[in-house]
Amino acid sequence: MDTETLLIHAARQTATAANSVSPPLVRTSTTVFDSFDAYKQAQGALVFDGPRYGRSGTSTTFELQRAMAQLANTETCIATSSGLAAITAVLAAHTGPGRHILVSAGVYGPTRVFCDNELIPSGTDVEYFAPDADVSSLLRETTSLVFVETPASLTMEMWDVPAICAAAHDRGIPVACDATWGTPIFFDAHALGVDISLHAATKFINGHSDLLLGLITGTHDALAGLRAYCDRSGTHAAPDTCWLTLRGLRTLAVRMERHQRSALTVAQWLQSQPSVQQVLFPALDTDPGHKLWQSQFSGAAGPFTVELAPCSEDVFTRFIDHLSLFRLGTSWGGFESLVMPAVPHHLRALAAPANAPRLVRFHIGLENPQDLCEDLASALTAVHGGGDVDSNLQKTIVG
Ligand SMILES: *Cc1c(COP(=O)(O)O)cnc(C)c1O
Repeated sequence: MDTETLLIHAARQTATAANSVSPPLVRTSTTVFDSFDAYKQAQGALVFDGPRYGRSGTSTTFELQRAMAQLANTETCIATSSGLAAITAVLAAHTGPGRHILVSAGVYGPTRVFCDNELIPSGTDVEYFAPDADVSSLLRETTSLVFVETPASLTMEMWDVPAICAAAHDRGIPVACDATWGTPIFFDAHALGVDISLHAATKFINGHSDLLLGLITGTHDALAGLRAYCDRSGTHAAPDTCWLTLRGLRTLAVRMERHQRSALTVAQWLQSQPSVQQVLFPALDTDPGHKLWQSQFSGAAGPFTVELAPCSEDVFTRFIDHLSLFRLGTSWGGFESLVMPAVPHHLRALAAPANAPRLVRFHIGLENPQDLCEDLASALTAVHGGGDVDSNLQKTIVG
């Protein structure tokens, strides 16, 4: 079945009972049973996979988890309260005193903060590795997990996921991947060898900027330790959130297609602007990660990062504040365009040199891309004055 069809027809098992198209929203703390036998059976069954107690989910949670597992071409899925909660659960379940993990450099900032402030002080040896590192030479007897996020947050470097998985699997070590950027629509993580794929469903998967949710997919075997950890630690996703995400999921394929088209249009236009030094977006053939992107992804909807020519803090502030369609805010993946001045986490500790290029992250929403380019052109003109921005803009948009 094609993905677009799957997204419409998956996860509607409980809809028939209510004679509705969408499955009903079931919220409860207590699940009740018709008999002691049924109760015992439920308590013995897989947690987060069927009715047991509110914390392990309701039929609404299970519908979303089944849909996500199907979409990711794997067996099972566990929902968490946020993307970060998914990340910390995966990390916590695979670490401990004396263990060593490899984490790709340039991961999502809060992932690194968790490693540095929780894992390292409690005795896990966390080693960050670069895109060109020979992973097999970094693996140790004590290595318990390789964690990769592709592309890197903000700096957008691509990682050779199949090579990383091959090296880790040679030694029986699982690989987890933060696959939020690609979503299962454009990034088939498990087919590339990833054991545990995790997503901030907060972003594209829900797509409506009105909730936080994490989703973790993999085989039953790959998620067994994590499932037990989530059970012990009270990991939970609210049924309301799962219900809304299921609604977002129905349109994921068509939204991604449109996000992709508009992101490419805007990125290419930005590339032609004199005040733009570089656009970091692996879908562009000028990007250093383009070949890896082509071999691992079937598409790209952004977000992407733009390196503006060096400028003073005042000029930079004026540029950001002049934008009107691009609202200033963290996060991305919703219907609305966003802009965020970007300071990669590993550079944050260093004092930025006065003449350093300015990094800005853009998320291209579902607005008309010409309106978005006009908004950008107007902000660039306000900063750098004059220039034949409008005719340049027209030329790009028409094509
Ligand atoms: C936003 C984001 C997260 C965190 O998700 P939340 O739901 O906001 O906690 C994790 N990884 C990546 C790559 C993200 O962009």
